[in-house]
Formats: sequence, C-alpha cells, structure tokens
Amino acid sequence: MTLASRIPSRLRLGLCSLLLLTAPAFAAPIPVTATFSILGDLVKQVGGEQVEIHSLVGPDGDAHVYQPSPQDVRTLSQSKLLVSNGLHFEGWLDRLAQASGFKGAQVVASQGIQARAMADDDEEEHDGHGHDADEHHHHDGMDPHAWNDPENVIVYVNNIAQGLSRLDPEHADQYQANADAYVRQIQTLDGEYRPRFAALSAQQRRAITSHDAFGYLAQAYDLSLLAPQGINTEAEASAADVAKLIRQIRQEKIKALFVENISDPRLLEQIARETGVQPGGRLFSDALSAADGQAPDTLSLLRHNLDTLLKAMEQQ
Ligand SMILES: [Zn+2]
Repeated sequence: MTLASRIPSRLRLGLCSLLLLTAPAFAAPIPVTATFSILGDLVKQVGGEQVEIHSLVGPDGDAHVYQPSPQDVRTLSQSKLLVSNGLHFEGWLDRLAQASGFKGAQVVASQGIQARAMADDDEEEHDGHGHDADEHHHHDGMDPHAWNDPENVIVYVNNIAQGLSRLDPEHADQYQANADAYVRQIQTLDGEYRPRFAALSAQQRRAITSHDAFGYLAQAYDLSLLAPQGINTEAEASAADVAKLIRQIRQEKIKALFVENISDPRLLEQIARETGVQPGGRLFSDALSAADGQAPDTLSLLRHNLDTLLKAMEQQ
C-alpha cells in the first residue's frame, strides 16, 4: 500500500489544490506554438529556457502550401501562446485555431512593420488569376516576407518580448534583456553588410530568386530582385512569365541567380540552362535549414542570404 493511498481522499484533494495554489504561474516552460521555423527560433532567442516551442512548419518547409495535421491541432490546443507572422502568410491558421479550440494569448510578430504592397502585375498574375480569384489565394496585395529585412526582425523580436512579458510578467525583464541582446546582434550584422551593398553598381544590384520572397530585403539594401514565381509558391509561373524573365536575364546580362530551400529547384535550373547562367547558391527564404545545415537559426539565415547575394552580385 502506497503512502498516497493511505491518505484520505478528501485530504489528498486538499493537498493537490494547495500545490496548485502555491506553484508559480509558469514553473514549467511555457508551451508556445510558432507557425514556422524562423518565428520558432525568434521565440527561443527571447524566451530562452522559460519557453518550450513547437514550430508547425519545420525546417525547409513551405508555409504557403502547408496543411495542418491532427497532431498540430493537439499541439496548439495545449499551447499558452501562439506566435504567427500575420500579413496573410498563414492562410490555414484561422481554421487550425478554431479546430483546436485555442484560447491562449497571441502575438502577430509583424505588427507595426511597414507592410510592402505587391506590384500590380504580381497581384494579377500570381495572386488572383483575375476572374477566378478565390479567398484561399487572396493576400490583400501584401507581401508577407517581412522577416527577410533585418530591421523588421527587430520589430518581430520586440513584439515577441512584449507578448511573453504580458503572459509571464515575472520574467519580463529577462525577456526584454534577451531581446535587446539579440537586437544588437542584428544591428551588427546589418552594419556589416549595408556598406558592402551600398558599394555595388546598378548593374550588380540585379538578381533572380525563385519566388518573390526578398522584396523587403531588396527594399532595405536597394536591390532589384526578380522572380519567376510570385509572392506565393502556390501559384505556378506561367510559360509566358518564364520566357519574359529569360529574355530579361539575357538583355540585362544578369548573372546572379539563386535557388531556394523551400522551392522545387527545377524551374530555376531550367532558366539557368536556357540562359547559361550558373546558380549562385541557395537562399533560405521562408524557413530555416535543418540543425546541421547552413541556416539553423534566424541570424545565420540572414547572414547566409546577405552573404550569398552579395558574393554573386559582386562578381557580375
Ligand atoms: Zn514565401
């Protein structure tokens, strides 16, 4: 006979509630769900050991075309905080939140950034297909890839710190200190690359990426990036778009061309073959790499992308 079973049941109940009352609000790590790997990493940078993160779309995953699993429904239902990108990136999130009965706190990491509008032709060609536009494809003309500009990552990190602090005020100072330290690393990185991009000529500033995921980065460093696929990987590039891009690459003698970790490389490889331009490396657009890859966290992702773009651009 165990000790517990010898204690009268009424007393046992009493002991249990006493334990619940005296335990700190979040003695165990706070269960947090992030919609994709980059956000998951940012929450980890800010939350440290106080959080236990689950990223719905994992390394090298494509959040544009993601389909939540029954396991995701369970994970979210057990979370205290949901961190999403916003800007209509996670078209599947509302339905998932509803299915899981999620009642926790939410942080929209991009809140407060200057949203970038999609070019008109992008919207027409890639986002709605004119007359047969449906809600699923609609992005309200906004580009969701704000995390690819280091300055926006600073906004993301501060939003996450505020969200965690509201939920767990006891550790608010620690969250803000972690965020501040991380922001300094981002600023150092930006300060390192900004002058090198500034030194490029107009010709060198051009490059081709697989889908249009680097608009904010291009805006930040004054680059001209073209992509056969639009903002959303769900829409296929039309043969006419690809032919137009190939003509442009030849005419403008663009030599910097990149594949992506989340997209099928075949289209870019086809363009490379037809133009004779060698791909200048792989960019990590919408997801981290696996832990043993080139971009296992957001800081190394930003560094890798800036470095890869710059090296290829300097050579053209
Ligand atoms: Zn994307």
